[in-house]
Amino acid sequence: MNTSSSSRPIPRLAGVCGWPIHHSLSPLMHSWWLKQMGVSGAYVPFAVNPRTAVDAFRSLKDTSISGLNVTLPLKTSAFEAADVATEDAQKLGVANCLYKSRGQLVAHNTDLEGFAAPLLAKMGADVLQASSVLVIGAGGASRAVIGALMSLGVPEICLVNRTDSKADTLVEQVDVPSLYALPWARRQEAVGRADLIVNASAAGMEGKPVLDISMEGGRSGALVYDLIYTPRVTALMQDAIANGMDTLGGLEMLIAQARPSFKLFYGQFPPLALDPTEVLIDALQSGRR
Ligand code: NAP
Repeated sequence: MNTSSSSRPIPRLAGVCGWPIHHSLSPLMHSWWLKQMGVSGAYVPFAVNPRTAVDAFRSLKDTSISGLNVTLPLKTSAFEAADVATEDAQKLGVANCLYKSRGQLVAHNTDLEGFAAPLLAKMGADVLQASSVLVIGAGGASRAVIGALMSLGVPEICLVNRTDSKADTLVEQVDVPSLYALPWARRQEAVGRADLIVNASAAGMEGKPVLDISMEGGRSGALVYDLIYTPRVTALMQDAIANGMDTLGGLEMLIAQARPSFKLFYGQFPPLALDPTEVLIDALQSGRR
């Protein structure tokens, strides 16, 4: 940790950028960890205009800001602005985290780790390596999910997306035999074949239509992992429970992708015992951020 001549820690500043950004739970989560861990620093939201985001990110090197998380719609600009990219950021071509190392601006992506950590805790690597997975959605989150599943050695990934052409394009880009697309019209038949079903689409989020896929016919004991965290228990998860399936919600991923960012910005991992779930649920329920 940096120290001044009087050995007082120099407060480290980090934050999250988006456009808009007022809805983000990240400031609450990181600030809670800072306080609980007694780390000298702050974490604040920054609204950054997408038109000038690349320049804004490049100027980070001339500031005392330790690093930034980056959310929609700035993840591509963050990747472009960086001097170098980590392997995880390169896999996805977008960054959700920028930090400085040896005078260079580094693009990183913690979504792969964030998706994988709660999944591994729930299923275990051995089970995953013998599992058939259905992924719903073909946007940015889906890329992280597929990248993480491939790294974990999952043997079969079926992708369905409301707009078939986007699923086809994603499969062509990734180009591995274990990943294939099924037309949206046939999505229901994929449910019964999956040991793990991941909703990486925006459907089911508060204020959006629910996902038009039934869990009826799903394998008993299969896991349904919904990346959405508002609401905490989605209609898809309720459907899964009613059909004897296990569930995992998006709040776990939100927390798991934040831990490695905190380490990059403040030099230490928040201990697993410091779980901000209740703080976040309270904020979501009260509308406070
Ligand atoms: P995105 O790039 O905008 O992609 C949205 C995806 O959702 C597209 O595949 C889109 O299909 C699909 N979609 C939207 N409305 C739909 C509907 N009514 N029925 C079926 N499919 C629909 O968004 P993203 O960044 O991938 O994020 C997707 C979701 O993951 C969001 O809800 C986000 O909150 C969540 N997420 C959570 C975490 C976490 O930490 N828990 C992290 C990242 C993302 P089309 O191609 O047909 O438009």
